[in-house]
Amino acid sequence: MIKLETFTKKYGSFCAVDRLSFQVSSGEIFGFVGCNGAGKTTTIRFLATLIRATAGDGVIAGYSVTRQPREVRRHLGYVPDTFAEFPGFRVKGFLDFFARAYGVPRQIRRRRVEDLLDRLGLAAYARTDVRKLSRGWKQRLYLARALVHDPPVLILDEPTAGLDPVARMEFKSLLKEWAAEGKAILLSSHNLAELADMVTHVGIIERGRMVVSGTLREVLTKTDRRPRVRVHYLGAPDRLETTLRNLPQVRWSRAENGQVILEFVESSQKGEVVFAQVLRTLVMAGIDVVEYQPLLPTLEELFVQATAGNALEESQRV
Ligand code: ATP
Repeated sequence: MIKLETFTKKYGSFCAVDRLSFQVSSGEIFGFVGCNGAGKTTTIRFLATLIRATAGDGVIAGYSVTRQPREVRRHLGYVPDTFAEFPGFRVKGFLDFFARAYGVPRQIRRRRVEDLLDRLGLAAYARTDVRKLSRGWKQRLYLARALVHDPPVLILDEPTAGLDPVARMEFKSLLKEWAAEGKAILLSSHNLAELADMVTHVGIIERGRMVVSGTLREVLTKTDRRPRVRVHYLGAPDRLETTLRNLPQVRWSRAENGQVILEFVESSQKGEVVFAQVLRTLVMAGIDVVEYQPLLPTLEELFVQATAGNALEESQRV
């Protein structure tokens, strides 16, 4: 549904995006992640037909971005990271205007605008001047605008930046609904923690190049970080600390919110075997273990590793 094929963008001699390729299928939510200046907005603006490629192409719903930009716009919902001012519009009129511009038939238009106002919590603001909306509400309005023509592809540049926690939760469940309806969704962010529970796939870009991509799980398990486990236990920490000190499998431990995180040393044995051995030792030492949970690497850890840093891991050691 969204395909980027060796897209390259140069500004003079500076290469902002270098032969970037990825694909997002119907029903997938692709998190496009990278530091400031990595090339996310450049890529997204190309897919939205707003800038030309130096080389390469993209495909949106079967149409070439470079050769069929009109068709691409018809099949694409795009939310930019900055909002233009539209003087004189009220919220509902604004949506109606764009629905007309996209040629949505009258009967469908009315229902769709009402539905979007409801789904995005904008109904109470239907008669509010667009310029008076706060950034978060404007963001919802632009999201609604991107959907008035019911496009199969949705591309959102930093969509969670201005949202409060409640709006963020609502946004997450809407994304999932749209993906379940079959839309292909791409969203960019540099806030990895925010994306982790929203996306099905991730691509990490650094200085215009993809450094790692795949399903969220694939990408998280690609890290070479040593296995970790979170132990929730009852009682004083002394006995646990003594037991841990005598466990050769444990590389370090760190107390966190009344629980403890253990990182294991490299081992020729399978991870599961080591997990089980340590649990057995803790229980046999008389520690009341309530919960024992293997921890997947976080997106932050993955990002730091993929972008060749190990400062985060160092800073977490005790
Ligand atoms: P952010 O998270 O800060 O929005 P980004 O990943 O979206 O960053 P881009 O805006 O795509 O990054 O920028 C990628 C690189 O291209 C940056 O180094 C930027 O300075 C450069 N760049 C972007 N637009 C232009 C332009 N019109 N002329 C020259 N350089 C540009």
